[in-house]
Amino acid sequence: MINRTGPDGLRSELVRQSNLAAILNTVHLAGALSRSDLVLRTGLSRSAVGALVGELAELDLVVETRSPSDGTPGRPSPNVKAHATRNVVLAMEVLVDSVAVAAVGLGGSLLLSVRSDRPRAHLPAHRTVQDLSDLARQITARLPADCGVFGVGVAVAGLVRRTDNMVLVAPNIGWHDVPLGSLLGEAMHLDVPISASNDADLGALAESRRGAAAGLDDVLYVSGEVGVGGGVISGGRAMSGSGGFAGEIGHIPVNTDGLLCKCGAMGCWETEIGEEALLRRCSKPPDGGRAAIQDVLEDAARGDRYVLQAMKEQGRWIGIGLAGLVNVLDPSTVVLGGLLERIYPYVIESIHDELQVRVMPAIREGVHVVPSALGVDAPLLGAAELAWEPILTDPAAANRWRVAANASQ
Ligand SMILES: [Zn+2]
Repeated sequence: MINRTGPDGLRSELVRQSNLAAILNTVHLAGALSRSDLVLRTGLSRSAVGALVGELAELDLVVETRSPSDGTPGRPSPNVKAHATRNVVLAMEVLVDSVAVAAVGLGGSLLLSVRSDRPRAHLPAHRTVQDLSDLARQITARLPADCGVFGVGVAVAGLVRRTDNMVLVAPNIGWHDVPLGSLLGEAMHLDVPISASNDADLGALAESRRGAAAGLDDVLYVSGEVGVGGGVISGGRAMSGSGGFAGEIGHIPVNTDGLLCKCGAMGCWETEIGEEALLRRCSKPPDGGRAAIQDVLEDAARGDRYVLQAMKEQGRWIGIGLAGLVNVLDPSTVVLGGLLERIYPYVIESIHDELQVRVMPAIREGVHVVPSALGVDAPLLGAAELAWEPILTDPAAANRWRVAANASQ
């Protein structure tokens, strides 16, 4: 259609695409809104909003619902909301000791999710891909028959080359040069685009879109599990670096007398604030995993003085690394995710003590350190955002992208 139009036609087609995208993005992020709210938020005219909402409804991407009367005279204004149960993406997560798959509806609601524990022994990639594919089948089998899948987003605790979804290295999973995107494509029999990215980058994306840093432009997200990763939003944009690998903050050197890290260097931040460091400080087996961490959290909640002292030391090291990052990046908000979110109440005081003495006063005054609002779901929700990108950019192409959920059965 575009080819047959002249320059003016092409321009108006691009304007229409951008306006459709503006409406769909607004509803996707803000939830149900009246047409008047959409006029205010997008700056488009009332008649344009009406026509665009009609077009998105034709594409099955949004629905208009009338809320019950609030008692004021006249008909209540209809609300426009994303049609979550008709439009989903599959979000996947590959961690050191578990894999997860979720169906996330347009609008960001987590409709179904399933997580499977796995041993920490480094498993070959094809086993992980098979697990993900099996979980994806379980999820799609439970979706309504009229539901369409638009894509797959994968969060991986490692360095991922976005151009071809190649996991270059995932030290804690034991992967080198794993072509995750193409392996998943072969295993899944679901002909939709697959995109993979680093789990902490995706956590940062989710927290900045719909979590603890929603709407903020300068955000540092730090997530700890076995490894420690980070994502930086600067001036409203994700900081990616020349190769797309920026944010490997788990490997900033913080302790010249420290331990050997899995990356091969000494004294990385990860060796002082990761899961193993906390367990070591609490005199638990460092490879005790989630069960041991649960014990530690229960001890801390009971007020166990030994564990609380260990938390204080953990917080000191978190604060030391954060101070360096805050001085460099000047974020307005630091979001602590994963394990760091779970131990937040026990470490925040020592973090503040370190920031107080190590961060330049003008920078320190503007920064807030907050726990993740999305918790363990942050990377999955970020993976979903990645998978939604094509449709949020060009909603009119929805019917070309949508694949029946039961196509993979
Ligand atoms: Zn390291």
